[in-house]
Amino acid sequence: MKRDFRITDNECLFEAAQHAEAVLPFFCWEHDVLNEGDYSSFHLQAQWEGLTGVCQSLRSRGVESRVVFGEIVGQLDLLFKLFPFDVLYSHQETGNLVTFKRDQNVQKWCRERNVKWVEMNPSSVMRGGDADRRRLKLRQADYRKQEPLPIPDFSHLEPLAPGVANQPPSWKEVITVVPKFKGQPLNPSLTKVNEKSAHATLSSFLHERGIGYSGGISSPNTAFVHGSRLSSHLAWGTISLRTVFAHLDQRRLEVKDCQDRSLWLRSLRAFESRLFWRDHFIQRLEAFPVMEKKPLNSAYADLKYEDDPEILNAWIQGRTGYPMVDACMRCLQDNGFLNFRMRAMVVSFACYGLHLSWRTIHEPLARLFHDYEPGIHLSQLQMQAGVIGFNAIRVYSPTKQFLDHDPNGVFVHRWVKELKGRTPAEIAHADEIPLDGYIPKVINLKDRAKEMKSRVYEIRKSATGKKITGDVLKKHGSRRSTAAGKKKTKKSTEGQMTFFKTL
Ligand SMILES: Cc1cc2nc3c(=O)[nH]c(=O)nc-3n(C[C@H](O)[C@H](O)[C@H](O)COP(=O)(O)OP(=O)(O)OC[C@H]3O[C@@H](n4cnc5c(N)ncnc54)[C@H](O)[C@@H]3O)c2cc1C
Repeated sequence: MKRDFRITDNECLFEAAQHAEAVLPFFCWEHDVLNEGDYSSFHLQAQWEGLTGVCQSLRSRGVESRVVFGEIVGQLDLLFKLFPFDVLYSHQETGNLVTFKRDQNVQKWCRERNVKWVEMNPSSVMRGGDADRRRLKLRQADYRKQEPLPIPDFSHLEPLAPGVANQPPSWKEVITVVPKFKGQPLNPSLTKVNEKSAHATLSSFLHERGIGYSGGISSPNTAFVHGSRLSSHLAWGTISLRTVFAHLDQRRLEVKDCQDRSLWLRSLRAFESRLFWRDHFIQRLEAFPVMEKKPLNSAYADLKYEDDPEILNAWIQGRTGYPMVDACMRCLQDNGFLNFRMRAMVVSFACYGLHLSWRTIHEPLARLFHDYEPGIHLSQLQMQAGVIGFNAIRVYSPTKQFLDHDPNGVFVHRWVKELKGRTPAEIAHADEIPLDGYIPKVINLKDRAKEMKSRVYEIRKSATGKKITGDVLKKHGSRRSTAAGKKKTKKSTEGQMTFFKTL
């Protein structure tokens, strides 16, 4: 098992149950993954909840699992001695460099032992492909529109020998094994990651909350309710993408007869377009696995940033003197979630205002996202930093975002306690007129952003920049993007990711 903690529409379990005489669901808590800089206690909790849930569901159907800690190849060796197996099923993963290397080691191990490794693809991401090749493949078959698989029938499987399966560890055991998380309590503010909660979230979104999706996902005051909130479930695999599509299609038929038909249809259409973006961005990491180290567009590899560690710390802690940015970062520290617009704003603020490189902020921000999905995260970081080359360069004004999306200061008051008694007007101008008890601004956004923009534009306008950007666009761009340097058409969908007002 990897990031696929479900029994419904789980191709690995389904195939194994159909073809094998005995099945052992196996999960390894890998030290290399747990100790990587992008991994946090938010992710540990998500995985622990997901794993515990799927093991319980399997057990109630007579299937025992095996959960271990350590290094994957050593653990596979051990398992092979206890339970010699012919086939290893796992989901295809597009992850960080550590999991990429792990998969290469597993492949080698399987070859040496004559074990067949069957990687099932739970998405429309094309193994080894890029956006261009994926597009051609999607014309033939789109995974996302296929019928989801039912819960497998395990009744014919042979029982396992004693000592092969074990009980999944308790939270206390998990945090004892990994020193980095010693003493870490469970965080009650995080989204519950299990299959039941995933289906309940989807249902409440499609039948109640989703009516406010269109127009409701921009403000941090409404997006927590009107957004689907499926990102953690999709990231940790407690629901499959095609299950979401199947329910969405069903709901679309139902709302045709309801009173709020046009509101619902508009919202469901907008939601579907976001769902489509998932695999498009993950494909970029699949095509360019070193994306956590290098920009997709090599013209921007040497873009200069100051990367001041104190400034980085102020940003992470939500102590920049810009109330909307500070509220967002403190909200993330608490519950690991933020809507798209606010995520884009804090990244643009970090890169353009604080002169922190997207590489520098990658790990601290990944640790704060409960729904961390490397392919989306890295693509968005590079896009918002302006280093992809073909997206519009935008610097979002935190003041404008505050006035447009939190005009009464509800969100800021909630997360920046020292601004509790302050009026919206005082908050809006906190960067110009310092407020007692609130940290003065750490930089002047206007000046700093101007400087960074000119550095980015210099590369963008250069002959080399244009040439490389053209190649990157062909390989990684969405279908409707226009050629590098040319004005986007109204229909350019990739533009919706950067649709905020500039400074
Ligand atoms: C800097 C930055 C980093 C991000 N990192 C992540 C991440 O690690 N994991 C993640 O799931 N999303 C990430 N996003 C995208 C987006 O912000 C979240 O998916 C969204 O806010 C989650 O809320 P929701 O589930 O209510 O989404 P909804 O708006 O209801 O969308 C439904 C689903 O579509 C997918 N989706 C939505 N927006 C995007 C997008 N722009 N690109 C790709 N897929 C999308 C997600 O799976 C989401 O759950 C990031 C955005 C930015 C700007």
